[in-house]
Amino acid sequence: MTTTAAFDAIAVGSDIQRRIGVKTSRDEPLARFTTMRVGGPADLFATVHNVFELRSLVRFARARGLPHLVLGRGSDIVISDHGVRGLVIQDRAEGSRVEGDRYTAEAGVPMARAATETQKAGLTGLEFGLAIPGSVGGAVWANAGAHDADMAGVLVSARVLDGQGAEAIIPVADLGLSYRDSRFKHAAPDAPPDLVLDATFELSPADPDVIKARLDEIRRWRQTHQPLGLPSAGSVFRNPEGESAGRLIEDVGLKGHRIGGAVVSEKHANFIVNDKKGTAADVRRLAEHVRSVVAERHGTELAFEVEFLGDWDGWPWPA
Ligand SMILES: Cc1cc2nc3c(=O)[nH]c(=O)nc-3n(C[C@H](O)[C@H](O)[C@H](O)COP(=O)(O)OP(=O)(O)OC[C@H]3O[C@@H](n4cnc5c(N)ncnc54)[C@H](O)[C@@H]3O)c2cc1C
Repeated sequence: MTTTAAFDAIAVGSDIQRRIGVKTSRDEPLARFTTMRVGGPADLFATVHNVFELRSLVRFARARGLPHLVLGRGSDIVISDHGVRGLVIQDRAEGSRVEGDRYTAEAGVPMARAATETQKAGLTGLEFGLAIPGSVGGAVWANAGAHDADMAGVLVSARVLDGQGAEAIIPVADLGLSYRDSRFKHAAPDAPPDLVLDATFELSPADPDVIKARLDEIRRWRQTHQPLGLPSAGSVFRNPEGESAGRLIEDVGLKGHRIGGAVVSEKHANFIVNDKKGTAADVRRLAEHVRSVVAERHGTELAFEVEFLGDWDGWPWPA
């Protein structure tokens, strides 16, 4: 997201309502729209419920040079305590359809729903989606994966609205998917990022009861291995080649280490949980502390998997 000068949020909000028919709110606190439960307000906030509204709102913002950010389920981000300047668009475009062995879902469909919908349709391949508390759009952005599967393995194509406003169906080979990475993470500086509108998956027929048993297994695994009852953004760091970030963090004795309300999970060292109404600054300070201790002791520079979004001007802030 780019930042620009202040704008008249009241006037822009009424313009959006009049032209696109989408309601907006001002100074909307964002913490509740993220799984980490931190983050200050958006200058202007809107929820879209279909691809038409999503496309129109993004085009509206781009045409006016209004900084904007599309939010899926907020499960891979830490939003600044100072909030987000410009317009935040929460994507709740949740249409989906099954055609033969193919499943197409709009970007706002939760991955867990994609997993259960395809199970009911007797299609296997998207079970790993149950482990991902994000949206289809966010999962393409991240090439999300779990349980030895990822988006790249089942995607056929995505309908993409590019930074110039053109729309096209892009085959998976051109989406730049690799380990937790995609072309969507690499917009040129100050250029509007490409946006996923929907995604199509190629799955295989299978007995729904067998797929359901696999979903139950994944559910149990997550409950045992992840701190699901507490706010978090999943894995904070990418796994270095051939190594586990969690193992490195555990090895330097940082499990349970706390800054303010943020603590390195006792259950999974690569998770930071927000157990005492922590701030985004607590989470970021702790994440940076973990990174520097691991670098010092292991000589490995961990890379962030979570994204720090919004107004982090002047970071690091005085404690
Ligand atoms: C408890 C927990 C467990 C997790 N486990 C896993 C796991 O096993 N594997 C895994 O890979 N991840 C995991 N995650 C991380 C996260 O769920 C995934 O990265 C998910 O794909 C993020 O999707 P989202 O909708 O929440 O994206 P958000 O967090 O809302 O957004 C992340 C980024 O994606 C961009 N974005 C959102 N929608 C679109 C779109 N339509 N087009 C383009 N860009 C878009 C946003 O602008 C933002 O930059 C976990 C998270 C939690 C909290």
